[in-house]
Amino acid sequence: MIIKKLATYHAKRDFKKTSEPKGENKSIGGDTFVIQKHNASHLHYDLRLEVNGVLKSWAVPKGVPRSYDQKHLAIETEDHPIEYAKFEGTIPKGEYGGGTVKIWDSGKYEHIISPNKPQKTMLAALKDGSLKFKLNGNKYKGTYAMVRFKQENNKNQWLIYRVLKHV
Ligand code: MN
Repeated sequence: MIIKKLATYHAKRDFKKTSEPKGENKSIGGDTFVIQKHNASHLHYDLRLEVNGVLKSWAVPKGVPRSYDQKHLAIETEDHPIEYAKFEGTIPKGEYGGGTVKIWDSGKYEHIISPNKPQKTMLAALKDGSLKFKLNGNKYKGTYAMVRFKQENNKNQWLIYRVLKHV
C-alpha cells in the first residue's frame, strides 16, 4: 500500500546514486511536518506533512510565509517516504533534485477543522483542495491555510498563507 503510494517517488530516483531514503513502509506517529531548504537548480523550500503513512509534499519557491500578508505559491510534488523528514544531504548533480537538502524546521503539526468546512481528516481536506493546520516548529509556530487552484491545468498548484486560528 505505502509502496504503491511511493511509486512516483521511486520512479524519479536511482537509489544507487542518491542517498535519499527508499522508504521502509512505516509511520512515525502521524503528525510530523518538515520544511527542507533545497538548494537545487532553483532554491526552494519543501513543505512536507505526514498523512496516512507518507509525507504529502509541496515545493514552495518563496518559502512558507512568516507574516499574515503573504500568499505564496506551493507546487504539489510526489509523496515522499516518512523517513525523508530526517533527510539532509547532497543529491548528486544530474540526479532528480540534484543539490543540497537541509532541514529548515521540523516538528509536529495539528489539523485544524474549520467550522464552515468540517472535513474530518487531512485526507478529505487534501481531496477537497482546502487545508488548515497549525505548525508547531521552532521557526514556524502558527496556523496556515492551503488552497488548491481550481483550473484543471493548474491542479498541482496551491497557495499557502498564514491565518488567525479562530478564522
Ligand atoms: Mn525540492
